[in-house]
Amino acid sequence: MEWRERDGVRWLEAELDGAGAAFSTRLGGVSEPPFDSLNLGLLTEDEEEAVKENRRRFAIALGLTPDQVVFARQVHGTDLVEHPLGKGVPEADGHVVRTPGTAPLIFVADCLPVALSGPRGVAMVHAGWRGLAGGILAGGAEAVGATSAAIGPGIGPCCYEVGEEVLGAFSGLEGVAKGRMLDLPEVARQLLARAGVEQVESACLCTSCEEELFFSHRRDRGRTGRQAGIAWVED
Ligand SMILES: [Zn+2]
Repeated sequence: MEWRERDGVRWLEAELDGAGAAFSTRLGGVSEPPFDSLNLGLLTEDEEEAVKENRRRFAIALGLTPDQVVFARQVHGTDLVEHPLGKGVPEADGHVVRTPGTAPLIFVADCLPVALSGPRGVAMVHAGWRGLAGGILAGGAEAVGATSAAIGPGIGPCCYEVGEEVLGAFSGLEGVAKGRMLDLPEVARQLLARAGVEQVESACLCTSCEEELFFSHRRDRGRTGRQAGIAWVED
């Protein structure tokens, strides 16, 4: 993964098999605190016009037009939708595209954004513990025949203290928790390996620790913005 910057917008970019993915930071937008500054999430208390401008800036920085970017209402589920869709915003936590020209985006602020690519396209998924436990990575891998994946910034094992229910969901995995501290990126890596995806790169950045770079739902007690993961099929 490499750092990129354009017009003040800064992001991490990953090269996958036949596809690309980008993970935004909070830098380069117009929103005021506590949404400063590149908040991409409308379902916050931020100003709608500011969020729309931020979305426009992120798309342009990536060389996309805003209408190429598609998203859904995320519900911590495991459903994937395939684009192009008709009108409307679906409920889904994962997206699949098979051809260039459409770039699905998911919103995060501690959950992991994960891009998977293979011969049948690219998937972009929202992977919090519920989605991971429910099998969203296996679903994404299956949909595109994934051979490579990129795990974006999310909450790290340094900051993610969880309860019994969450620990229990991953009791079949080795070495993913120390006490109550869960290593969500490691959970994702192991679940990707189980799904046959061996070529995996990880941002290894904790959204809660890296306050200058990322929004964190847990650190900011819910009043914060959203960064994004976005993916596309290469021309
Ligand atoms: Zn941390």
